[in-house]
Amino acid sequence: MTISPDHIRRVLQDERPATLEALAREAKELTERQFGRTIALYAPLYLSNFCSSHCTYCGFHSKNRITRFKLTPEQMHREMAFLARQGIENVLLLTGESYKVTPLSYLKEAVGVARDYFPSIALEVHPMDEEDYRALFEAGADGITVYQETYDRQRYTEVHLSGIKADYNFRYRAPARAAAAGMRTIAMGILLGLADITEDLCALYSHLRAMEKTYPGVEYSLSFPRLQPIKDVDFIRANVDDATFVKIICLTRILFPRVGINLSTRETPALRDRILEFGITRMSAGSNTAVGGYTLIDRDRQDPQFDIEDGRGVDDVVAMLKARNFDPVFTDWRRIQNEPAR
Ligand code: SF4
Repeated sequence: MTISPDHIRRVLQDERPATLEALAREAKELTERQFGRTIALYAPLYLSNFCSSHCTYCGFHSKNRITRFKLTPEQMHREMAFLARQGIENVLLLTGESYKVTPLSYLKEAVGVARDYFPSIALEVHPMDEEDYRALFEAGADGITVYQETYDRQRYTEVHLSGIKADYNFRYRAPARAAAAGMRTIAMGILLGLADITEDLCALYSHLRAMEKTYPGVEYSLSFPRLQPIKDVDFIRANVDDATFVKIICLTRILFPRVGINLSTRETPALRDRILEFGITRMSAGSNTAVGGYTLIDRDRQDPQFDIEDGRGVDDVVAMLKARNFDPVFTDWRRIQNEPAR
């Protein structure tokens, strides 16, 4: 199947049930052939909500008056020990984007703490140059998540008003720099509801194809978070309905049979459970999107980056997967040592 805006638009606009059924059938078959019935589980851990960027759709943006908080190494231990006790072996460490408050030295320290608990450590932090990515890789990180959010340059400028994130080109090239630095896994994505979906999907797919050609050894995954309403943030978003969301998952699987597809807790339990069959390979479980949210701050005092829809704990997600005949996978990776990338 070719990647063209016309084709993607035709698929997304086709409302006939038979079309969705055919897409779902093909996506399910390809997923089972490539991945079996396995779903990898991970959990996010927010290290800091300090941010020097102003993205108009995000609760952490620099102008928002929320309580700012950054974990100390002792607090990281508490939060990470909690997740490890739940069985989590694959952690995603997140921060707002601030070179000053969460510099490379802080992130390396966090990765160092995480090595005591998790075999696989990914980061979703500000984009960096290749040398800094290499330093994180050598410290023990093996993955980077960096979403372009939208590939529409004009829209990008409208919603990213200032800070590191306002630099479209620097962000666009971040996956390539992370791959060149040796990162094993790279997650890319768009924020559904920001701009025209067809154009964004087409650009994301082309970006991924270019990455696969240049860095074929990397394990890629894609994410399609839908914009959620956020407390105290007034943002008009385009509604992306469930049928469109499912079509995006199916289409992605058909175009990229071997690429991972992540599903976040922004989606409701009912939808998450229903669409697992059609291409999802990885989902978060037991998530909290506030700094210190697992052990340090009561829920009613938290300022999360966004509200989660699926608040089920790890055990509940595992039970659901088993009941649906899936194998939950906590880790498929053992770190021996991250060698300097050549
Ligand atoms: S999306 Fe990221 S960079 Fe933008 S305001 Fe939120 S935390 Fe900061």
